[in-house]
Amino acid sequence: MYTDTHNHTKHFSSDARMTYIELIDACKKQEMRGVAVTEHYEGDYPHDIGEPQVFDIDRYFEETKAWLEYAGDLPLYRGIELGYQKHLCAFYDDLMDKYPFDEVILSNHLYKGKDPYFFRDCYKEDKNTVYTRYIEELADMAELCNNYDIIGHFDYINRYSEDPNPQIKYAQCPESFDRLLKAIVAKDKTLEINTKSVFKMRQKGIEDSLPDPEILNRYYELGGRNISLGSDSHDDTTLCLLFPEVAAYLSKFGFTENSYYVGRKRHGEPLV
Ligand SMILES: [Zn+2]
Ligand SMILES: [Zn+2]
Repeated sequence: MYTDTHNHTKHFSSDARMTYIELIDACKKQEMRGVAVTEHYEGDYPHDIGEPQVFDIDRYFEETKAWLEYAGDLPLYRGIELGYQKHLCAFYDDLMDKYPFDEVILSNHLYKGKDPYFFRDCYKEDKNTVYTRYIEELADMAELCNNYDIIGHFDYINRYSEDPNPQIKYAQCPESFDRLLKAIVAKDKTLEINTKSVFKMRQKGIEDSLPDPEILNRYYELGGRNISLGSDSHDDTTLCLLFPEVAAYLSKFGFTENSYYVGRKRHGEPLV
């Protein structure tokens, strides 16, 4: 089995439903190799949704001591999922230096300053325009921020689209993808393959649900070897969701390892 590098608990992520006990029990039941907890940290989150989108990091490291104890033999990695906005890069880079995180995911949940989860208006614009701009922002993010390990769900923008063909493709914005992928390679970071994104496509009945082959081929061609599997679980029913299938798919492009992080150092476990 695998290490799942992207998960949330209800203790520190306001949109998650599982407790750490449920998380650890489910991992053990599935005989997973390891699990990373990556709680949401959205500095200056633009929407008032009644819950803070940042958490007290000191309290996190204090409380998760009990989690590690409960996990016992199961490797449990203490991570964070940072929500990008351009003006936060320097702040995040400093903040991540101050704490002993195992893994840092950097994600962008915003399009033109709004989360498409709440604001579906962005999908009224032309699909190519929206996707190009989103990937352009991801490229900025990968270039401007430094103190992170993994670029989270590059396909977040297609999750809530009503388009009958919502998948994001390399051909839609090759220059922007090249900037993003080159930054990941140059900085020796990791590209996340988010299996919740695949699952969401299938829930909508969309057959074209796996990441675009051209994106994966281009990443490999540019020297990209680091990929991580993340289920983005918010409850205990989706851990390692579709991992064997997606891992087998990724191996066809030449990728051999699932990357996970311990003390901010990359490790690899065999994909197949
Ligand atoms: Zn996310
Ligand atoms: Zn997440």
